[in-house]
Amino acid sequence: MQGQSEFPEMDQLLNILQLFPNKLKVELLCEVNSNTNDSYPVHAISLGNASIDKPGVLFVGGVHGVERIGSQVVLSFLASLLNRLDWDTQLQYLLNNCYLGFVPIVNPSGMVMQRRANANGVDLMRNSPSIATDGASFMVGGQRISPHLPWFRGKNGQAMEMENQALVKFAQTNLFPRPFSLVLDCHSGFGHSDRIWFPYANSVSQPIDDLGVVYQLRKAFFSGFPHQNYLFEPQTKHYVCHGDLWDYCYDQSLAYPGTFIPLTLEMGSWRWLKKNPLQLFNSLGLYHPMKPHRVQRVLRRHLILMEFLMDACHSWQSFLNDPQLDLDKKAAIKKWYS
Ligand SMILES: [Zn+2]
Repeated sequence: MQGQSEFPEMDQLLNILQLFPNKLKVELLCEVNSNTNDSYPVHAISLGNASIDKPGVLFVGGVHGVERIGSQVVLSFLASLLNRLDWDTQLQYLLNNCYLGFVPIVNPSGMVMQRRANANGVDLMRNSPSIATDGASFMVGGQRISPHLPWFRGKNGQAMEMENQALVKFAQTNLFPRPFSLVLDCHSGFGHSDRIWFPYANSVSQPIDDLGVVYQLRKAFFSGFPHQNYLFEPQTKHYVCHGDLWDYCYDQSLAYPGTFIPLTLEMGSWRWLKKNPLQLFNSLGLYHPMKPHRVQRVLRRHLILMEFLMDACHSWQSFLNDPQLDLDKKAAIKKWYS
């Protein structure tokens, strides 16, 4: 592979693979070309108990090439777990009972080309077969006009992009068959607040079947860790879109008996801009904190959320067996869909 020095996130990933070869399993999901025809791998890393009767969490980053902080958050969490593994008996116990997956850089060609889309100009989060039933938001909801405009869904009738096919196949094999699985897909974008989104992104009126479980996760997170500022809401509170990959995966997962809940972390980048307006003029500055201390703060901030998801996954039966589940679903419908 070439071009490593221009791509610090890929360097970090390859470094982790080299440092901890006996503590993880690595899988090459696919290889993609950039505009200069350099080829870049999309890696999946697995930790813990892979047995399919165990629950699992998948941490995803770098779906959008300019949102580098998402990859960095996932990589830094992965490195933290691997560095603790020798002495942390609580973590060892958790990993004996849970599967953890990581796809830290889904869109390496976009990242190396410093653009949101992949090398084909396709926005990977507008590219699945999911269709917005309530009418997609103008442009941001996905467009088929041109790959030179943002939010391009890909050409009509064309198969999903290679990166997405690989990610869907990975989820089908490693998550859907489990009794319980979660995804945290890390993005960054506009807004002052950090948001946790759940499907559907394609409808303001249709709640997911597992809305009650989502509501319980939200309650558990906010009551257990009250001093943080996340908004936790349906993605459609922000916009309605075609082609969301997690909408598609969620619908695919319904064919399996287990519960699969994909969440998206959208880190609010306006806060970074407000503190450092000059980064507006940097091509990555809209999506990525530029000052080193601010990057460190972001990497620390989301550890609590990721640790919580790991614990929630380990304790999945507390959520699924909760007698409150039906009432919680009703409360969630009232809160977001009535
Ligand atoms: Zn994004």
